[in-house]
Amino acid sequence: MTQETNNSAVRCYIGIGSNLANPLQQVNSAILELQQLENCQWFGVSSLYRSAPVGPAGQDDYINAVACLETNLPPESLLDALQQLENAHQRKRIERWGARTLDLDILLIAQQNIDTARLSVPHPYIAQRNFVLVPLLELAGDISIGQKSLKYLLENCPPGSLERL
Ligand code: ATP
Ligand code: CA
Ligand code: CA
Repeated sequence: MTQETNNSAVRCYIGIGSNLANPLQQVNSAILELQQLENCQWFGVSSLYRSAPVGPAGQDDYINAVACLETNLPPESLLDALQQLENAHQRKRIERWGARTLDLDILLIAQQNIDTARLSVPHPYIAQRNFVLVPLLELAGDISIGQKSLKYLLENCPPGSLERL
């Protein structure tokens, strides 16, 4: 299917997470799939991390990473493409923040602010999640979100168990 595109490409950061059905394998295959997304140019991926789960109790640890790509897809088309990948990983939406095979969140799209029924960018919880801020810092140490540097956000982020693999 031909996708609608914009003329200029924008740099995006995508948060990747999994805590079900061999999370390490889920994340590694998602990285390969993101590299092949149509209308997107791959820029790279952070280290992989293991983090303690947020949300309902009794879940396994997460594997997390952040990927960087440039795309000329409109934001909601990028979301569609990411949700197709989640679905291809048999993602089931049972309870909010419940265990999942694959979660792909749009963290940032250039310096854009988006607030629609389907999409909030920057992702609303970036500042509360060290498993997002730490890998994002690896890729984009000098960026700011809403006037605040990533380093500042990380210094003020609630603690959470995080191990670089
Ligand atoms: P959280 O958003 O707190 O990380 P989650 O990833 O578990 O929670 P999902 O069930 O994956 O939430 O997504 C719920 C909805 O969030 C999606 O259907 C999507 O429309 C919406 N959404 C809003 N902003 C974003 C974004 N920046 N990236 C991805 N999905 C988003
Ligand atoms: Ca998420
Ligand atoms: Ca999500």
